[in-house]
Amino acid sequence: MPEPDANLEKNFIIHRLDKATDKHALVAEVGPRIQGIVSAVGKNPVTADIMRQCPQLKIVSGFGVGYDNIDTGYAAENGIIVTNTPDVLNEEVADTALALLLATLRLIPQADRFVREGKWLKGGFPLSPTLRDRKAGIVGLGRIGKAIAKRLEAFGVSVAYHGRRKQDDISYPYYGTIKELAAVVDTLIIIIPGGKETYHAVNADVLKALGPDGVLINVARGTVVDEQALITALKNKTILAAGLDVFEKEPQVPQELIDLDNTVLLPHIGSASVHTRNAMGNLVVKNIEAFFSGKAPLTPVPETPWSK
Ligand code: NDP
Repeated sequence: MPEPDANLEKNFIIHRLDKATDKHALVAEVGPRIQGIVSAVGKNPVTADIMRQCPQLKIVSGFGVGYDNIDTGYAAENGIIVTNTPDVLNEEVADTALALLLATLRLIPQADRFVREGKWLKGGFPLSPTLRDRKAGIVGLGRIGKAIAKRLEAFGVSVAYHGRRKQDDISYPYYGTIKELAAVVDTLIIIIPGGKETYHAVNADVLKALGPDGVLINVARGTVVDEQALITALKNKTILAAGLDVFEKEPQVPQELIDLDNTVLLPHIGSASVHTRNAMGNLVVKNIEAFFSGKAPLTPVPETPWSK
């Protein structure tokens, strides 16, 4: 983002790994001098190997609230602070989740294609499924999950949720497993962190429990959903449809998902507006600036808490 980039360049010497033709050569050359890393989800993961080549590294400032691309275990063991960009993107991602849900149910991209391809001149567009009378289950009622729930309430949709624990101040019904939640709702919205702990948490069993009217919306991480199991469920119509912003091997999207007519597919745009990406970028820079002026970084992740 131009604005945060410019602010970063005012106070720091920047080496751009994303623009390097030979990334290994750049890390080998400048690694010994690197004190901070700025990273974005999906571009150059910050592995233990990269951090090992930067022995003076003190902070990794992640662009994004999810930080499954950063090896926080290695960072914690080696006194490296990791920060992320929570809250500034909640509303945008929740907007995207609702847009994706409505697009998936009301066949909005398909209807758009229908007009563009001149098919309206030959007949009407088929009737679609609906959001009316739906029951939504939110997997991960955190910062973004709560912003999604608020919107669903406004749309008159009932909400239940799953997380690792019940939240005492929340009145929505709680379910201890994703499968139990899937069995009582017909619309499952995934917004938990990625990483090993949640790998394929949405599997064939969960999709079976969701049932033939079931709609899956994934705005979390592609790794949370077993993509092959999802393709099978969509092909066999054991669930109704899926709206996906994220994929297991981005930017590769399986051809089978592209060929299906009961999917809406987005290129990981959950937070991708100019406004919100600037807010995220500015927080990345503020974390770096605070840290190097001896102050507490604004938003360290729980795995690497700040202690002076
Ligand atoms: P929060 O930490 O506020 O919320 C995460 C929620 O997930 C919590 O309610 C937590 O509840 C639950 N959770 C965490 N781990 C597990 C687990 N192993 N099993 C079940 N539930 C779990 O995060 P945010 O709401 O800020 O962000 C959530 C995720 O959304 C990010 O990590 C990121 O991956 C994704 N995201 C995607 C975007 C996109 O562009 N598509 C944009 C922004 C975020 P509890 O602790 O009770 O388990």
